[in-house]
Amino acid sequence: MSAWAINSYGGIENLYLSSSGCMSAIRSPDQLLIKVHAASINPIDVRMIGGYGRVLINVLRKQSGSATSGTEFPLTVGRDFSGTVVEVGGNVSKYKVGDEVWGAIGANKPGTHAKFVVASQSEISKKPANISHIEAASIPYVAATTWAALCAVGELKDKNATGKRLLMLGGSGGIGTFSIQLAKAWGMHVTVTSSTDAIDLVTSLGADTVIDYKTKKLWNELKLHEKFDYILDTVGGEYTDKSLAFLSPWKSAHLVTLVTPLLKNCDDFGTVPGLFKAALSAGVDTLKGLTSGRSVRWAIFTPNGSALDRVKQMVETEQIKPVVQETFPFSKVREGFKKVSEGHLRGKIVIDVL
Ligand code: NDP
Repeated sequence: MSAWAINSYGGIENLYLSSSGCMSAIRSPDQLLIKVHAASINPIDVRMIGGYGRVLINVLRKQSGSATSGTEFPLTVGRDFSGTVVEVGGNVSKYKVGDEVWGAIGANKPGTHAKFVVASQSEISKKPANISHIEAASIPYVAATTWAALCAVGELKDKNATGKRLLMLGGSGGIGTFSIQLAKAWGMHVTVTSSTDAIDLVTSLGADTVIDYKTKKLWNELKLHEKFDYILDTVGGEYTDKSLAFLSPWKSAHLVTLVTPLLKNCDDFGTVPGLFKAALSAGVDTLKGLTSGRSVRWAIFTPNGSALDRVKQMVETEQIKPVVQETFPFSKVREGFKKVSEGHLRGKIVIDVL
């Protein structure tokens, strides 16, 4: 089977098209083999080929038995996909061969930039019927990540979201373009920070207020606005600390950041010291929040088929639309990676695998 893989960590030039190295096969009865029609490229994929997250992800690989050869190589990246079921394990009841599905799989699994992928039934859902595989592939990873951040960690759901004020730090990329639409579908008031050229895009997705962080002094500008019930941070660095002042000081208000040092700490210091250091940093962030009566939390991508069930309905009722910036054929995956590595994305980059 063909898959884009690496045999050692490095740059995009390390990616090669392997015809045999990453054979996918069902290994447990809750898994399915899926023919991939399209997959997206996320910033995590670019970082992973450079070795980002290798220490912790290798621990997870060993625990889950997905590292059968004793090494992670050949390593195929890619976290999400849209495709067709070609084989089901004995315990799979919700899906059958021929079903069109989409999903986002854990970082410890062989990735989706391949002709076939193995996923657990808890990681997938039926694909929305009203969009193409290319469009569908742009959604699962950012949807599952947003769900982890806003719902699991931020304790937000459709029923308690209406009328709440969300500040979205970084609105024009994959996470931003999805989160704006989810928050608007749930009746939130959404303020987005964006570059000048992306203002039209984020406005078209429903943002109520857009602050152009390139031409305005963001922190002065935010002082002119009412405080926020939720802040979703996809930028990190000083943004996490400085934005805290704009969160409402009430107990259900949360600043959730997706930019955490967890994986990098483990890469730099080893698993146990890295986890310990990350726990300390998380504690410091929590304390910073608590001393001002506010809550700061970290969130990480978690595969979530049930969330994708909900998102499917929202796509089919056109509350959420895919935002695909550019599509690359399977033969040109390296160009797609280059595009993602250059940043300034406006929605998602998708690979047409068929
Ligand atoms: P993208 O690359 O798709 O988008 C990033 C967007 O942010 C771009 O549109 C960029 O445009 C914009 N941006 C950059 N700097 C700023 C800024 N200072 N203010 C406002 N906007 C800015 O990335 P994703 O949306 O997929 O992910 C965003 C980040 O979230 C990732 O880099 C990663 O750190 C984190 N993440 C964490 C996950 C986790 O599990 N914890 C999972 C997924 C993502 P421009 O530069 O032109 O303004």
